Amino acid sequence: MTDLNWETVWVGMGSNLNQPIKQLLSAKSCLEQSEEIRALRLSSFYQSKPLGPQDQPDFVNAVCTFETQLNPLDLLQFLQSIEHKQGRQRLRHWGERTLDLDILLYGNRVENLPQLTIPHIEMLNRAFVVYPMLELESTIILPTGETLKSKTLPTNDLVRLDSINE
Ligand code: AMP
Repeated sequence: MTDLNWETVWVGMGSNLNQPIKQLLSAKSCLEQSEEIRALRLSSFYQSKPLGPQDQPDFVNAVCTFETQLNPLDLLQFLQSIEHKQGRQRLRHWGERTLDLDILLYGNRVENLPQLTIPHIEMLNRAFVVYPMLELESTIILPTGETLKSKTLPTNDLVRLDSINE
């Protein structure tokens, strides 16, 4: 079988309901079980303050990177099916959630579709995305040709949790 159509992607993961670490580990297992996904690597877990209402639990975030043969829309659909399988609770806007999976980067692709924006529109502003990405790979080139940098990004109370995702 030809190897030409495997693309490297980055996915952001977050949860602050129903045992967040379990939610992220379970999503990782679902991804790894797909025959159209290989070579998955998961960052450490990071705890962060919620972006929205503050009367909700802290989030646990991580990123993973893998190669996939799924095209961007099929990957989005697959991620949404994992969110639904794990209960996909959204209690309010910017609020608590069981599992959030976002496509951050898909190779060098730029997509501006009604249901999908790649690179993810907020990724560069989010410490809980940028720091774990740089932990997995210190040099990441964005579709613009720039390198991903954390220099100007406040950490926003980001705490790296112990390596419990091995
Ligand atoms: P949320 O409630 O945060 O899970 O919002 C997900 C919505 O964002 C979905 O309806 C997607 O169609 C849309 N979306 C746009 N760009 C992306 C992306 N890069 N990754 C995941 N979802 C995206």
